[in-house]
Amino acid sequence: MTTIAFIGLGHMGGPMAANLVKAGHAVTGFDLVPASIAQAEADGLKTAGSAKDAVADAEIVITMLPAGKHVLSVWTDILGAVRPGALVIDCSTIDVDSARAAHAMAGKQGLMALDAPVSGGVGGATAGTLTFMVGGSDEAFATAEPILSRMGKRVVHCGAGGAGQAAKICNNMILGISMIGVAEAFVLAEKLGLSHQALYDVASTASGQCWSLTTYCPVPGPVPTSPANNGYKPGFAAALMLKDLKLSQEAAQSSGAATPMGAAAEQLYGQFNEAGHAGVDFSGIINFLRERTTT
Ligand code: NAD
Repeated sequence: MTTIAFIGLGHMGGPMAANLVKAGHAVTGFDLVPASIAQAEADGLKTAGSAKDAVADAEIVITMLPAGKHVLSVWTDILGAVRPGALVIDCSTIDVDSARAAHAMAGKQGLMALDAPVSGGVGGATAGTLTFMVGGSDEAFATAEPILSRMGKRVVHCGAGGAGQAAKICNNMILGISMIGVAEAFVLAEKLGLSHQALYDVASTASGQCWSLTTYCPVPGPVPTSPANNGYKPGFAAALMLKDLKLSQEAAQSSGAATPMGAAAEQLYGQFNEAGHAGVDFSGIINFLRERTTT
């Protein structure tokens, strides 16, 4: 049994912490929202009155927060209260620069740290089937791996501090671009009188094959489990796709990488969000593209 503090018990953090309790760990949680605290207590967590109080006895501290500014603020608050030798893990999706700054802050306190963002969404958090992309030292990774594997099915050590966030935003930039590509192909096929099923049957076994086509197919029919068959209910909401594309473009700018397709994807998902579709699955971008086509 490991003593764990879990800060940020929202859509993702709540079920992740609950899975650690189910695995037999002693978990103390903290969140700013009373309803999240109440749910955590119902899931068997102990709860604390502040983030600092939550971390006092912890061997491992996990944060799962909205963005880089929240992570840096919470880590600034708690690191002095974390016991020597403990490991601090941030599982939020944040910008690479903030992740590296968080590692540096922990290093100054003599603490081990990891960035360990996830993919798999709320379903994966609940089922304990997340994928963790991890950045940090070998020693920190070896300490974290048995704990992370109680919340996920794959735990990948991507490199030094910040590498987990880098892997996450690179992957999701591929995803955003590929979904737009697949959606454009279906819109063009419709104009050319080619059926959805025919395009799917060819592309899914040819060089157009990709996850956006074969798992999240943006038209109803060919892949019965894709959100397109369920009114484009997420799934992976367009707001989160936009967040990750923005992070990819911030990283591209600060590192000097040329990512023109990533920039175009960010722009399109920005327009899709502004048009009121932030809560729609990101594959719903196909409807937005269709509306723009000329007759
Ligand atoms: P969420 O908004 O549901 O949860 C964040 C929680 O952090 C909230 O409960 C909020 O009250 C809490 N919080 C904020 N500031 C705090 C503070 N100072 N102290 C304590 N608690 C604080 O968000 P989420 O959907 O759980 O996402 C969390 C992170 O995981 C984000 O970075 C997101 O991008 C990433 N992520 C989300 C999904 C998804 O499908 N929801 C998938 C992969 C990754």
